[in-house]
Amino acid sequence: MIDPWGSSIIDYEKLTQQFGIKAFKDVVGDIPDASKLMTRGIIFGHRDYEKITDALNNNKKFATMTGMMPSGRMHIGHKMVVDQLKWYQSMGSDIYLSIADMEAYAARNINKEESRRLALEEYIVNYIALGLDVTRDNFHLYLQSENDDVKNLAYLIGKKITFSQMRSIYGFDNSTNISHIYTPLLQVADILHPQLEEHGGPKPVIVPVGPDQDPHIRLTRDIAAKFNEEYSFVEPSATFHRFMTGLTGEKMSSSKPKTAIYLTDTVKDAVKKTKSAKTGGRDSLKEQKELGGQPDKCSIYELLVYHLVDDDSKLEEIKDKCLNGEILCGECKACACELLEKMFEDLNSKRSEAEEIAENLL
Ligand code: SF4
Repeated sequence: MIDPWGSSIIDYEKLTQQFGIKAFKDVVGDIPDASKLMTRGIIFGHRDYEKITDALNNNKKFATMTGMMPSGRMHIGHKMVVDQLKWYQSMGSDIYLSIADMEAYAARNINKEESRRLALEEYIVNYIALGLDVTRDNFHLYLQSENDDVKNLAYLIGKKITFSQMRSIYGFDNSTNISHIYTPLLQVADILHPQLEEHGGPKPVIVPVGPDQDPHIRLTRDIAAKFNEEYSFVEPSATFHRFMTGLTGEKMSSSKPKTAIYLTDTVKDAVKKTKSAKTGGRDSLKEQKELGGQPDKCSIYELLVYHLVDDDSKLEEIKDKCLNGEILCGECKACACELLEKMFEDLNSKRSEAEEIAENLL
């Protein structure tokens, strides 16, 4: 069982086999102007992405849906979602962004006002500073608790699923509070509501998520099919991206400060953290020169791949030099720090304008 509220998943291959997620590399060639996250294999899996390639290639309307449960600080791993939203926005997609304040209340005991504050100040400000255009007509941001379409649809959806099904998908037990049991239905409604008549009717919807969210995706697709007669919902598509390894070698997590570079870290702190990050370097200089480094086990290399180096040939060159022992980790870290410094300076300079825009959004 995958637990969307807790566990970390590392074995992506096993996951795709076990749950029938398809390899993203098989569809990447059909995507016009595919993003780096796509071509570099960071997005590794999908469900039904062919509907999205069809929409992209034939100028058909589609929507992109994602949600956030505001419960901590935004770190550099979360930037991946923003990069994906920006890409879909540039391809003409409607963007729906749900702030899961009802889920935050039920699962984490965070009240609505705190959810709103955290979402705007910690997340949305960064989304805007990172380049998401929230001023477009086709950008829709909402709090779950204030979206009647979502709440009404969640209620209707509840009719098509039993407690025993919910328990087998999510592992709920006798101690789980009822509101928590209800939250997956809200997420299903989040994903399906862009297809209601008042939002333009049935259309493909892409949901870019981490693999821990797959239970929600499977449930949503099942329910979409069950509502075929009433709403003609198109079963939504999903992509799954890898999580970033933390600076210490474990999964990057908001609640573990040593693992994460937060987007609101000062430039100095971000660089300091990068300098002390775990690398795939060998124990001694001699060994590194003889055996080469291990970029596939290196959090610095991951930073370069995910966020810092746009040019594929430059990235290839770093990887080759690392594998051949031609560069050492100190030099490589210095290069990563320089790039990170630029990224954070840029982000900081855009944040005050982003704060003003965010203030008026909800
Ligand atoms: Fe990582 Fe660079 Fe060291 Fe290779 S040389 S292990 S990529 S820090």
